[in-house]
Amino acid sequence: MTDSFDVIVIGAGPGGYVAAIRCAQLGLSTACIDNLINHKGDPALGGTCLNVGCIPSKALLDSSEQYHRLVHRFPAHGIKAKGVSMDVPTMQNRKESIVEGLTSGIAQLFKANKVTSIHGFGRLTMDNTVNVIDESGQIMRTLVGRDIILAPGSTPAHLPKIPFDHEFVLDSTGALNLENVPKRLGIIGAGVIGLELGSVWNRLGSEVTLLEALDDFLPVADHQVAREARRQFTKQGLDIRLGAAVSKLSKSKNGLRVHFLQKDADDSVEVDRVVVAIGRRPATDGVISADSGVGTDSRGFIVVDDECRTNVPNVWAIGDAVRGPMLAHKSSEEGMAVAERIAGGKAHVDFNCVPWVIYTSPEIAWVGRTENELKAAGHDIRTGSFPFAATGRARAMEEPVGFVKMVADAKTDRLLGVHMIGPHVSELINECVLAMEYQASSEDLARTIHAHPSLSEAVHEAALAVDRRAIHKVN
Ligand code: FAD
Ligand code: NAD
Repeated sequence: MTDSFDVIVIGAGPGGYVAAIRCAQLGLSTACIDNLINHKGDPALGGTCLNVGCIPSKALLDSSEQYHRLVHRFPAHGIKAKGVSMDVPTMQNRKESIVEGLTSGIAQLFKANKVTSIHGFGRLTMDNTVNVIDESGQIMRTLVGRDIILAPGSTPAHLPKIPFDHEFVLDSTGALNLENVPKRLGIIGAGVIGLELGSVWNRLGSEVTLLEALDDFLPVADHQVAREARRQFTKQGLDIRLGAAVSKLSKSKNGLRVHFLQKDADDSVEVDRVVVAIGRRPATDGVISADSGVGTDSRGFIVVDDECRTNVPNVWAIGDAVRGPMLAHKSSEEGMAVAERIAGGKAHVDFNCVPWVIYTSPEIAWVGRTENELKAAGHDIRTGSFPFAATGRARAMEEPVGFVKMVADAKTDRLLGVHMIGPHVSELINECVLAMEYQASSEDLARTIHAHPSLSEAVHEAALAVDRRAIHKVN
C-alpha cells in the first residue's frame, strides 16, 4: 500500500523536524522519516544536534565549567571548598536526561502538530516516491509526497589510516560518552569540536594535545579573536600543535602513539585515547537513488540553489547535507523557509547573518565577515573594539577577558561583521545579528541605550569605538 502526503521529510534533525512541524502548522499533511537509534537502542528524534551534538556537548561543557570554576575561580571570590571531586557517571547521566527530555519533546511536538513520524531509512526514488527501509534492508513502506524535503544531515569524517575503533580511536560521539577522564587525550583537528570537547576533558584533568594540520589557528575566526583564543586556551593547558599533519597511529608500550609531520620533521605524541575531529561529511549515501535524478557534488553534498531547491522539481534539501555552514540554526532556518515556500508563501534566509558560536571558555562568537576577508575583497572599512576588562560587569563577575570588535563600511557605516571573545558572547552576539539583519550602522548601536552594568556595554563601546569615541578606553 502506498501512503500519500503533501510533504515527506527525510531526517528529523534540527533541519528536518523544524521543517516538518512548520509544514504541519501550514496545513500540509506531513510525514517525517528518521533512522537514528540512541545509545539505549531506541529510536530518537532530533538528529545529531539533540542526540550527539549541540545539546550533549553543551551539557558537558557546562558541567566541566562549573567544576573548573569551583576549583580555580571561586577562591578569588573568597569561596573555599575542600574535597571537591568530579563524579563522571553523574555528569554523564545528567547529560543523558537532558537529551532524553528534549528528544522526547520533539516526539510530543510531532504528535501535537499531527506530523506522521516514521522510524526507518528513507530512500528517494523516482516520481517523488520514498521507500522506508528497515535495519535488515527490507522495504517496510512506500510513500509518495507532493513535495520532498531531504534533511539527512552529516556524519564525522574519518582518516583512512586511523579508522574509528570506538574504544581508543573515537569520533565526537565517543568523546561525548567517555566514562572516565583519560589521562592523556589526543585530538586530531583543532576546529570547533576539538576545542569544545578538548576543553571539557582538559577541565576535568586530561592532558589534552590538539594536532592541527593547518599553520593558522582558527582561520575562520577574526585574526585578533583567534590570537586571543589561542593565548587563553594555552594558558588553560591545551597543548595546541599547529602545522601538524597526522600520518598514522601505532600502539606503544603505554598507550597509543600519534605520528605527525611538523615543519618537515617526523614527530609523535603518546596518548591514551584519540579523538578524530577533522570535520563532517554529508550523510547522503543511499538517501537518493540514481533514478531520483537528484544531483550531488563530488563530496556528496546535495546540490541546491539559494532557496534549497534541488535540480528535481518539488524536491528540496536543507541543513548539513547542502552547502553552507554545518550549524543547527542554519538547518532550522532553511527548514522553515522551505516549508513556507511549499505552502506558497515568501521566505527569507539571510546567509550573511548566520551567527557562529564556539562554546569554550572564554566563548567565541561572530556574525558577518572578518576584517581580513573584507580588506582582501577591497572593502574600505573602519573597525572599533572594546575589552571586557574595561566593563564593570565583567570585572564584578571576575571574567575580565576578551573583547568585542566591530567592522563597518567606511563610507556608509553599515555593519559588516562583529567578532567577540569573552564571557557570555554566545548571548551577546544575537543583538549584533539582529542589528545586521536590519542593516544597522555602527552609529545605530552607538546610539542605543545599553543597561549598566552589563556585558553588552562592550558592544555599545565597540560601536562608539568605530567612530573613535568610546568613553571607557583611550581611543
Ligand atoms: P542532523 O542533525 O545530522 O539530522 C539528520 C537526521 O537524519 C539524523 O537523525 C539521521 O539519523 C537522519 N537520517 C539520515 N539519513 C536518513 C535517511 N536516509 N532516512 C532517515 N533518516 C535519516 N551546531 C550548532 O549550531 N551549535 C552547536 O553548538 C553545535 N554543536 C555540535 C557539537 C557536536 C559534537 C556536533 C557533532 C555537531 C554540533 N553542531 C552544532 C552541528 C549540528 O549538530 C548540525 O549542524 C545539525 O545537527 C544539522 O542538522 P540537520 O538537521 O541538517 O542534520
Ligand atoms: P572543523 O572544520 O571545525 O575543524 C576540523 C579541523 O581539523 C580543521 O581545523 C582542519 O584543518 C583540521 N584537520 C583536517 N584534517 C586534519 C588532519 N589530517 N590532521 C590534523 N588536522 C586536520 O570540524 P569539526 O571540529 O570536526 O566540526 C565539524 C562541524 O560541526 C563544524 O564545522 C561545525 O559546523 C559543527 N559544530 C559546530 C559547533 C558549534 O556551533 N559550536 C560545535 C561543534 C561542531
